[in-house]
Amino acid sequence: MCVFCKIASGEIPSYKIYEDDNFLAFLDISQATIGHTLVIPKKHYDSIFDLEEETKIFNLVILLTKAIKKALNIDNVNILNNNGPLAGQSVNHFHIHIIPRYENDSVNFSFPKNELEKEAFINLSKKIIVSIEK
Ligand code: AMP
Ligand code: ZN
Repeated sequence: MCVFCKIASGEIPSYKIYEDDNFLAFLDISQATIGHTLVIPKKHYDSIFDLEEETKIFNLVILLTKAIKKALNIDNVNILNNNGPLAGQSVNHFHIHIIPRYENDSVNFSFPKNELEKEAFINLSKKIIVSIEK
């Protein structure tokens, strides 16, 4: 059983902030910032590619983020979800991070700025649209 399945079943303790029949939210053991929260389906899915009926988790993240905003009096937050080792996923049980942001909190998400020719943008958008419609 994976570590988050153990948390969901109560075998491993966690600092819960929300629970219902299908979902659980608890404080990340490594608080990137104060209030850093993980939201998981209780059912095990490796990653976003395996999610089925648990897609309601995204609605729950919106509700929980607003609750955290109120409780911690924050106005800035990052929602993060890592899927696969190249994306930095270290626990292979689908989860969404809610990371409140504060002045000078030392968290740094930086994206490379890659330029693409117009033609390449057109081709890329066509490729993705086709694969969604399949
Ligand atoms: P990720 O890198 O997206 O897979 O995130 C996994 C997260 O799970 C990390 O931020 C860890 O700090 C957190 N984590 C791992 N074990 C526990 C645990 N027992 N309780 C709470 N958070 C945990
Ligand atoms: Zn699991």
